[in-house]
Amino acid sequence: MSSFLRACAQLSRKSVRSVHTNSLITVCRGGLLGTGPTGAATGAAAARRRYLTTPSGDNAGTSPRSSTGKGSSRVLLLVLSSSIVSGLIGFKLASSPAGGLMSAETGAPEPPAFGTPSDFEHAIAELREAFSHDPDVVSTDPEDLRIHGFSDYDYRPGCLPSVVFYPNSTEDVVRMVNIATKYKMPVIPYSGATSLEGQIRSHTVGGICVDMSGMDRILEIHEEDSDLVCQPGAKWMDINDTLKEKGIPLFFPLDPGPGATIGGMLSTGCSGTNAVRYGTAKAEWFLNATVVLPSGEVIKTRRRSRKSSAGFDTTKLFIGAEGTLGIVTEVTIRLAPVLPTTVAVVQFPDVRKATEAVIEVMNQGVGIRKSSPPPHPASTSRDPYATPAECVELVDDRFMAATNKFGVSTRKWPVKDSLFFKFQGPSAASLKETAKVVKRIVEKHGGTGFELARSEKEAADLWQDRKNAHYAGMALLEGAKGYGTDVCVPVSKLPELVYETKKDMAQSGIVSTIVGHVGDGNFHAQLLFRNDEEYKKVREIVDRMVHRAIALDGTCTGEHGVGVGKKKYLVEELGAGTVELMKTIKRTIDPLGLFNPGKLYPDGRDDNDPGTGTRSAGKQA
Ligand SMILES: Cc1cc2nc3c(=O)[nH]c(=O)nc-3n(C[C@H](O)[C@H](O)[C@H](O)COP(=O)(O)OP(=O)(O)OC[C@H]3O[C@@H](n4cnc5c(N)ncnc54)[C@H](O)[C@@H]3O)c2cc1C
Repeated sequence: MSSFLRACAQLSRKSVRSVHTNSLITVCRGGLLGTGPTGAATGAAAARRRYLTTPSGDNAGTSPRSSTGKGSSRVLLLVLSSSIVSGLIGFKLASSPAGGLMSAETGAPEPPAFGTPSDFEHAIAELREAFSHDPDVVSTDPEDLRIHGFSDYDYRPGCLPSVVFYPNSTEDVVRMVNIATKYKMPVIPYSGATSLEGQIRSHTVGGICVDMSGMDRILEIHEEDSDLVCQPGAKWMDINDTLKEKGIPLFFPLDPGPGATIGGMLSTGCSGTNAVRYGTAKAEWFLNATVVLPSGEVIKTRRRSRKSSAGFDTTKLFIGAEGTLGIVTEVTIRLAPVLPTTVAVVQFPDVRKATEAVIEVMNQGVGIRKSSPPPHPASTSRDPYATPAECVELVDDRFMAATNKFGVSTRKWPVKDSLFFKFQGPSAASLKETAKVVKRIVEKHGGTGFELARSEKEAADLWQDRKNAHYAGMALLEGAKGYGTDVCVPVSKLPELVYETKKDMAQSGIVSTIVGHVGDGNFHAQLLFRNDEEYKKVREIVDRMVHRAIALDGTCTGEHGVGVGKKKYLVEELGAGTVELMKTIKRTIDPLGLFNPGKLYPDGRDDNDPGTGTRSAGKQA
């Protein structure tokens, strides 16, 4: 044990030696391969997706290794033993004469060595042999590689994986991980493919893209406990549809991009429009996760009970880890009761006025209470009721123009900065009451044209338009690429952030839209570019926006995650000590550095995010 601790201590200062494999194999295709449709919802990946819902209580498909019959002490033992094994492997590697520990030039820890192209060929052959009973599990089909190498949601050039692996069970993942480790091959978990900061792109040396879309089953529904056990490839929208079809009045409230899956959502630490009322992935919506660690060990982070104070929260270790610490193969999620909702829209003279109105609405208790309780003691409102809202969304004038043109709702809206509210309450009367209170507040801040959706359908369509903001925004400038990104600040700082950013965008002449979950201080910008010059401007605007957010005590990303796009801001935001702690955890759990390399942890290199001057519009994914 003491040698393990020494090993960990060394690993926190050192890392394994770099071998510049880029020169050995080049699979990064900066542009030309990215012109077609992507893997998000099309092609072979989508064709392989299945939806097999088992009845409530059906345990089929649950990994035997992840059985709930293991005590938390066993879990801790597993974590510890896997850490010991991982740590010792890392120590051995780091100490090996062939390894070397630090960069001779800079003294900084260097990235780990990957296998050679020949090693990767052996790995693929071994994978094929191991899964010879089901040839569909291992694919090197060029179209499959292309689909998995690019994303419409990532403005950066893509990289091809060497092979795509489609597991059907936790055991499949374990076998794959053992082969990857043997041949030092990068492993890139891939699920709904809707992430926006380059999280799923392969490494420049290639690697095994692990497409979890085949593991998409709901395994158990516990209506009485308001929870559900599922595989990581299950999509949040499908889960909610299934619950509705089965007449179960519960839903999963985290709502990121359409098509996102539970595994990807956990791994990005996502949230969405519902966060005002329900919080984010970092709240307690994920009760436990079964994870295959880089050592090949399978752990389950916790049992299904609603609460646990048994040690620190190992589930959270994987929330936002972006696939760098393990592959999630099963998850228990919490569900919330479905309540009646409706949608209202109101226009403002500018985003500053709109965000000031949001602050007052929030301070009335919006998003906290479900029904009409007594007024908040600190409330200055004369109204006797607090105002329950599920979502408060800011959209700018350009977004409204885009929605009028491309949205699914038929109503045409004034082209002005606007707020979308989703109210939630136990009855239609309570929704009307809420609307009355909000109307009064927003009008005080210069809001005009406050309107409630006229029907459930109109409310659903309007909300769909808001959820599809990405696509409507993209349609504003034909042939353009979109750079979508998010930041988050304390709500009181939001007016300043949004106002300054919008001014910056207007001065630059870049076509852009702003949408935001302003109820929790989170806003998103979608900036369009058609050439290198515009792309350079876009990068500069985003850079200024991120620095502005951090200076306002905020974060470089409220919900999209770090990927490759935001890793350079982490030290500024979190401090070197916190980032080093994250790296120490990574080195301990994944000493070979094989899991989703190049993502999340700042490494002083920007090799996956090459910056300006390297691209032409229309040539990338
Ligand atoms: C139109 C649109 C709107 C969006 N709106 C929002 C929003 O409102 N809020 C928000 O938070 N995000 C939003 N997003 C971003 C995106 O939907 C989220 O980041 C989502 O959580 C990604 O889930 P996914 O299944 O697509 O994951 P992927 O993109 O497949 O993967 C994301 C990350 O998780 C890792 N990963 C995937 N599966 C596993 C697994 N089983 N085990 C371990 N690691 C894994 C991957 O390696 C990668 O690092 C939006 C995207 C789009 C396109």
